[in-house]
Amino acid sequence: MQPSQIKDLEDLDRAAIWHPFTQMQDWEEEIPLIIERGEGNYLFDIHGKKYLDGVSSLWVTIHGHRKKEIDDAIKAQIDKVSHSTLLGLSNVPAVELAEKLIRIAPPNLKKVFYSDNGSTAVEVALKMAFQYWRNKSPLSPPLSKGWGGDLKTKFLTFENAYHGDTIGSVSLGGIDLFHNIYKPLLFDSIKATFDNANDLIRQHGGELAAVIIEPMIQGAAGMFLQPEGFLKKLRKACDENNVLLIFDEVATGFGRTGKMFACQHEGVWPDLMCVAKGITGGTLPLAATLTTQEIYDGFKAPYRDLKTFFHGHTYTGNPLACSAALANLEIFEKEKTLANLPPKIAHLKQGLQKFYDLSSVGEIRQLGFMIGIELMKDRQAKEPYPWEDKIGIKVILETRKRGVILRPLGNVIVLLPPLSLSVAEIDLLLEVTFESIRVVTE
Ligand code: PMP
Repeated sequence: MQPSQIKDLEDLDRAAIWHPFTQMQDWEEEIPLIIERGEGNYLFDIHGKKYLDGVSSLWVTIHGHRKKEIDDAIKAQIDKVSHSTLLGLSNVPAVELAEKLIRIAPPNLKKVFYSDNGSTAVEVALKMAFQYWRNKSPLSPPLSKGWGGDLKTKFLTFENAYHGDTIGSVSLGGIDLFHNIYKPLLFDSIKATFDNANDLIRQHGGELAAVIIEPMIQGAAGMFLQPEGFLKKLRKACDENNVLLIFDEVATGFGRTGKMFACQHEGVWPDLMCVAKGITGGTLPLAATLTTQEIYDGFKAPYRDLKTFFHGHTYTGNPLACSAALANLEIFEKEKTLANLPPKIAHLKQGLQKFYDLSSVGEIRQLGFMIGIELMKDRQAKEPYPWEDKIGIKVILETRKRGVILRPLGNVIVLLPPLSLSVAEIDLLLEVTFESIRVVTE
């Protein structure tokens, strides 16, 4: 790329784009890093500089960038049709993908409702759970005549939960830093900890529509793991108190934790499951909410009863995205992606131990390819760095200089590489991250 072209792009970015989760005052003072292309586990900027993609382009890339089979599937689908609606029609890749998703999902999940991103997959789950109880209530007359008294309208969610940025999913969230500002707009939910959740379910069962949780590991909070056996107990409490259980597998799904879905670590199945991010291997936006036959049947009724699920996004079941997802899942089978992960996960785990030599490394949390390295000002006293210090941002700017792209969560350095990362690339990722933390904090 010509130097003048590069300068134009950098100026135009600052002039025209408002970046997500970004303080634009800082952004405008910096030179933006603009990506031009990708190849395998690497991204290349407009200067031609090569970077290892250490966060899978925000947790989506699975088999690397420009994976031939996925790109070919998208190209082949373009030659057939790029979009056709699922409202009143169906399309070939959407049908084939639904069948495939049901085949790999927990065995009780039998129906697929498509949307476009993680937040909308969560919105769908919460509206489905809410309406399911209304539809089922013997007290409830047809909705057109108002609602007849079913009390199951509340959701139980967890401290530090993150379920997306739309108003419904923010209402279910528990990260004060992101969510406090919007409080006046949100509906109330019951906030639980891992310690008191089951008691709260017993206490509030009569008014709870559902419990929602990121199974095994809370991602955006900074990679917090749940105690072993926790999901089993949660499932039991939900069953005993007639409460639905929603698993948000948006971040954890598609191999990220070492299993296809995180809930498979404990063999606990939800009533509704949200997936997005890695579903297309990191190529096109697509999401799905999977549910049971029983919940689906709760919406089947004579037309006049108005028990229909009134929800549907314009690009729902987009054929290009569905064909990308099909190709993504075929690669899992063909390349035995999941079977190849355990040695790489063990290698990561072993390599991470060395990080405790750095006095700023307070805690390392890992499940499969999801890793959080929490930096602390004083690890004995568990004193965090003040968030205004931007310690995470400083570290990732150092990794960038050394050819690795990361994105921190506050003081937590996140490593969430594509599953296609080789052992040599794991070493590169760890070396650069180690050195960058050392330079910033010692
Ligand atoms: N749920 C979880 C667990 C997530 O991690 C995220 C995104 N990080 C979302 C939902 C929201 O997904 P999206 O950004 O695609 O709306």
